[in-house]
Amino acid sequence: RSKEEGRGIFRFFQEEMNLRLLKRKALEADLRRALAEGELRLHYQPQVSTDGLRLVGAEALIRWQHPVRGDIRPDQFIPLAEETGLIVPIGDWVMRTACRQAAGWPELRRIAVNVSPVQFRQPGFVAKVRETLAESGLAASRLELEITESILLNDTEEMLAILAELRALGVSIAMDDFGTGYSSLGYLRKFRFDKIKIDRSFVRNLSGGSDSAAIIRAVLGMSHALGIRSNAEGVEEAEQMALLGQEGCEEAQGFLFGRPMPAEEFAAVIAAHGTGGHCQAVERWPK
Ligand code: C2E
Ligand code: MG
Ligand code: MG
Ligand code: MG
Repeated sequence: RSKEEGRGIFRFFQEEMNLRLLKRKALEADLRRALAEGELRLHYQPQVSTDGLRLVGAEALIRWQHPVRGDIRPDQFIPLAEETGLIVPIGDWVMRTACRQAAGWPELRRIAVNVSPVQFRQPGFVAKVRETLAESGLAASRLELEITESILLNDTEEMLAILAELRALGVSIAMDDFGTGYSSLGYLRKFRFDKIKIDRSFVRNLSGGSDSAAIIRAVLGMSHALGIRSNAEGVEEAEQMALLGQEGCEEAQGFLFGRPMPAEEFAAVIAAHGTGGHCQAVERWPK
């Protein structure tokens, strides 16, 4: 390969990298602006009990209402927010907004908030949660923090200590996307999560006799033995719900019961069902 050719290839890569960096910088600046200008929103998705199909809680899910690009899904900006540290002010905003909102919905038993590993590792995270609860007037028992097992990958002992401090505040801890990480079982001995959220990928393929059914059965067997509640994510079909109920899964969440929706819409769901009635789509559901 000639020297000239080598230089050409090098220049090509450099241009490619510069372009990528530019795009990233532009998105970062745009996200920073979005936070300042109030383009971020929270949507709320119902969580129901499999036994009785009662509304038992909601998960807060972030949305970016971009003036030009329209609604942007979290998968498209949360990773960048994590890389740049923007997730810290964004996460603060999410926590504050969800707690205030839930404080205004006394009939709602519980609000679940996703916490990024980056946020979790910030010094003072526990104090911040305590302050947010105090400021919003939300009882700690009504807040559930959803974490992923990647939080426990490094500095495990330190991370477990933070979880214990959070638990001492009275908030509950849910393990999100269970089954997709590396060490799903080992840490369950070290920390008793309040809830396991079975990842959507297992629910999606759920039908009699499938591998996913066997895995879900095993996860439920284990969570029951440990006294941990389970929530199945991404329930879209009545048949999936029937199987989950049979296996003793306590809670479900998914399009079958409601998509993530704006606060005003979710307020109507609470008004109709929050005091013990069945959850919307569920009315079609045979008992
Ligand atoms: P997650 O916490 O596992 O949230 C569940 C995702 O599944 C949500 O996607 C929800 O809209 C979607 N979903 C719920 N039911 C169904 C269903 O029946 N079928 C299908 N196909 N999908 C369903 P979303 O809102 O796009 O969020 C994606 C991920 O982004 C979340 O996964 C979470 O990891 C992250 N995320 C969302 N909001 C926040 C936040 O405020 N902070 C942080 N750190 N991460 C967030
Ligand atoms: Mg979640
Ligand atoms: Mg999940
Ligand atoms: Mg997820």
